Amino acid sequence: MATIAFIGLGNMGGPMAANLVKAGHAVRGHDLIEANREAARAAGVVPAGSIAEAVAGAAVVVTMLPAGRHVLAVWEEALASAAPGTLLIDSSTIDVDSARRAHAMAAERGCPSIDAPVSGGTGGAAAGTLTFMCGGEPAAFTAAEPILKAMGRPIVHCGPAGNGQAAKICNNMILGISMIGVCEAFVLAERLGLSHQALFDVASTSSGQCWSLTTYCPVPGPVPTSPANRDYVPGFAAALMRKDLDLAQEAARSTGVATPLGAEAAGLYAAFAEAGQGGTDFSSIIAFLRSRKPE
Ligand code: NAD
Repeated sequence: MATIAFIGLGNMGGPMAANLVKAGHAVRGHDLIEANREAARAAGVVPAGSIAEAVAGAAVVVTMLPAGRHVLAVWEEALASAAPGTLLIDSSTIDVDSARRAHAMAAERGCPSIDAPVSGGTGGAAAGTLTFMCGGEPAAFTAAEPILKAMGRPIVHCGPAGNGQAAKICNNMILGISMIGVCEAFVLAERLGLSHQALFDVASTSSGQCWSLTTYCPVPGPVPTSPANRDYVPGFAAALMRKDLDLAQEAARSTGVATPLGAEAAGLYAAFAEAGQGGTDFSSIIAFLRSRKPE
């Protein structure tokens, strides 16, 4: 079992750190917010007053932070206290360029590292069932795997540094676009006098089938476990979908790739979030689409 420093004990990091404790690791946790440090203490994490205190003597550092700038700042501070050979794992969702810069910083200090963003949300973090998408050297991936297993599976090695983030934003671009497509189909069906259930029964067993329809159906009824049945309480908040679509657009710009539907989806989720709906589940964009007038 390892001594692990866990930085960022928020909605995701709190339960992930708790699962590392349950698996028998010694976890020292740090967060800027005292209430998060105290909640982690209740789950068996030893609270640390600073990054340096959490990292000193740890074999592994895990970060779960809002964005690339936070990860770069925290890794810089962590690397100043980490012994060469300390394994760094970042599970935040961040831009690919920052992830690659973070890997380079770790390598300069003689520390192996992986980017390991997750899918599965707060439910998956609590249940220890997160999917991990990893980028980094094979040896760093092999060293990280037993640590990640305490927090979820499957654990997929997607290639070199930054490829975990690349997989995450490509996947979520599919998800954002497909959710809007499914929502538009339900709104059109309503106007055509076709019931939600009839459209679901046809599309879920034919070529319109996709996760946004069969697992996360944006209207109440056909899939009783989808957020539409509980007033669109997330689930996966629209603000996080907006963030991931923006990251995909940033990557498309920096690589010179045309993603017209990705750009359109990013624009729609930005407008939706700016209309005050960022805290609702991302499938609730159906109400926003329903209220729009044709152009
Ligand atoms: P959160 O805001 O609840 O947690 C982030 C934590 O980082 C906060 O508690 C904050 O105080 C802490 N923090 C920020 N800067 C710090 C610093 N310098 N030192 C110490 N602590 C610091 O966010 P979250 O929902 O836990 O998400 C974390 C990451 O996971 C994000 O990148 C998000 O995109 C990604 N993610 C979230 C979900 C989800 O459903 N919430 C799902 C998949 C991925």
